[in-house]
Amino acid sequence: MLYKKRKQDALEQAVCKKNDIVTLEIIDMGTEGEGIGRLEGYTLFVKDALIGDVVSACVMKTKKRYGYARLLKIITSSPYRVEPFCAVARQCGGCQLQHCSYEKQLEWKEEKVRSCLERIGGFSMQETDLFEPILSMEDPYYYRNKAQFPVGVNKEMRLIAGFYAGRTHSIVENIDCAIQHPCNHEIIETVLAFMREYKITAYNEKEHTGLVRHILTRVGVNTGEVMVCLVINGEELPQSDAFVKRLRSCKLNGLNRNQKLHIKSICLNINREKTNVILGEMVKVLFGQSYIEDTIGNITYRISPLSFYQVNPLQTKKLYDTALNYADLQGNEVVWDLYCGIGTISLFLAQKAKKVCGVEIVPQAVEDARENAKINKMDNIEFFAGAAEEVVPARYEKSGGRLAADVVVLDPPRKGCDEKLLQTVVRMEPKKIVYVSCDPATLARDLRYLCDRGYELKKGRACDMFGQGIHVETICLLMREA
Ligand code: SAH
Repeated sequence: MLYKKRKQDALEQAVCKKNDIVTLEIIDMGTEGEGIGRLEGYTLFVKDALIGDVVSACVMKTKKRYGYARLLKIITSSPYRVEPFCAVARQCGGCQLQHCSYEKQLEWKEEKVRSCLERIGGFSMQETDLFEPILSMEDPYYYRNKAQFPVGVNKEMRLIAGFYAGRTHSIVENIDCAIQHPCNHEIIETVLAFMREYKITAYNEKEHTGLVRHILTRVGVNTGEVMVCLVINGEELPQSDAFVKRLRSCKLNGLNRNQKLHIKSICLNINREKTNVILGEMVKVLFGQSYIEDTIGNITYRISPLSFYQVNPLQTKKLYDTALNYADLQGNEVVWDLYCGIGTISLFLAQKAKKVCGVEIVPQAVEDARENAKINKMDNIEFFAGAAEEVVPARYEKSGGRLAADVVVLDPPRKGCDEKLLQTVVRMEPKKIVYVSCDPATLARDLRYLCDRGYELKKGRACDMFGQGIHVETICLLMREA
């Protein structure tokens, strides 16, 4: 046994070692979008290489079963390779797939969902044929409604803003991000010019000195309302009147000629902690309100700097329409929307349901959700603050097992649902479960749990919320077997 293992190790070591230059055909893509090649059966991951490429790469690190190599040169280019839109696409950690055609990105995302459902969920191909084609974006650029630009200095000590390079905190200078709203260019330039003129310092993470940490922007793409929020390591911004005046007079570019933008909120977020977390808890308004509003369909949402709101509004509309379609509400149903955030899906469904109950762990989000129900004059919604896996089982016990739902919507964070929650959902016996997921692996695990306990996967669909990125959203409908 030991001999065999040694022999295998020797074989693997012999295939390649650190600093070797190797030629690889890229035959697959990993979960982070990286290229996968095989050298005599030994797997090498190559960032920035694309399926279909033949590349020359330098081996960086070898482990027993696989290793990592750095792309040196593309020898034969993949048929899926396209020129990245953005000049800093390779350095910047924001996008991972800009060098890949959008069609191939979609195919890869669908495949990722399918393979998780098969491998982790144990669903057969036939069942996953229930999947409709992915909801794709018409234009996979300039779609994000929220940006967080870190501010710092470059090697020459010049003030810059941009995005973090992958897995590091060094800033890649870029104010023309290919997936952010174009108005960011003018906003960031204005903020940097103001800082230079008034000698306002950028935050230095290592020393925990300096003032401006991040520039956060949010755009209501359907209302044209814009928020600019400076995250500062301090209590005040010097010359804040001048700052407001400058920002208010800057001319913002819309997505097209018809989009008129206006700054509705300029604020400061106070974050004096030595932390990676971008936002602190306190917000000070310098101009206008502490929030902006946006609409999805007929519903208006109030969005504050701290609340979670989907970043791709056009795709969100498609996703929520699908949720509404899957729930197929007739008007007399009770719906539980678990992991409801600021009540986005809850309000959308309340248009057609008798009653919606939302559960969310972040107290501010619950406040926003209640406020959103008020703004939209909806009184058939109730929100509960707390962990879904505690609130729902507790209410179920308290009701003596009578807590019922016709439809349950689950929209958990990446780690998926807690088993305690799923157990209670099964006991509540809803006819339908609509599962919205941002991680196909935990989705597959949770669907398997539910399908082993009386539910059947009826249909599903992936939705591309993050063009050029690696994440994929999926929505599934489960029904209780008769
Ligand atoms: N459905 C909303 C939010 C989805 S994001 C929308 O579409 O906008 C997931 C949400 O789950 C976040 O708001 C997060 O704060 C919340 N959350 C995370 N863990 C939770 C838990 N254990 N119980 C309830 N909510 C939780």
